[in-house]
Amino acid sequence: MSDAGNEEEHRDFFGRSLLINLLRALHLVGVVGLGVAALGVRPVSEMAVFAGILAASGVFIAALDRWANSAYFFQLNGLAVLLKVLLLAAVGYVLFVWDGGEPAAPDPDTRDCPDCKSEIWIDARRCPYCTSVVPPLADAPEES
Ligand SMILES: [Zn+2]
Repeated sequence: MSDAGNEEEHRDFFGRSLLINLLRALHLVGVVGLGVAALGVRPVSEMAVFAGILAASGVFIAALDRWANSAYFFQLNGLAVLLKVLLLAAVGYVLFVWDGGEPAAPDPDTRDCPDCKSEIWIDARRCPYCTSVVPPLADAPEES
């Protein structure tokens, strides 16, 4: 690799390191704030604020690294950042978007025994588990 090509790939400006360190500090504020909100110490509504700080500072840091080094996202550091973003997106999706799948719909053919709370047939007259007599359901579906 020639030096000329290397100079073109790596750019810098005065104060870039300081700016990145300030952004890293902001990034940590976001991480700690999110963690505190996740632990329930602070209201969950604050999570959005800290998530915004976290995301904005992270994107800014990555953009600055990419600007300074055009091959950044093809190198280990940049790939690790991309992996981290993917993992965080997956965690965020699972925590805030995905509803954990549909809860099992109650079986329309069964109900709970009023005595032992076991699942029994909706038209049962006696519970097969506790053998107590079960009153018929008033709103049981009628035979058609
Ligand atoms: Zn029962």
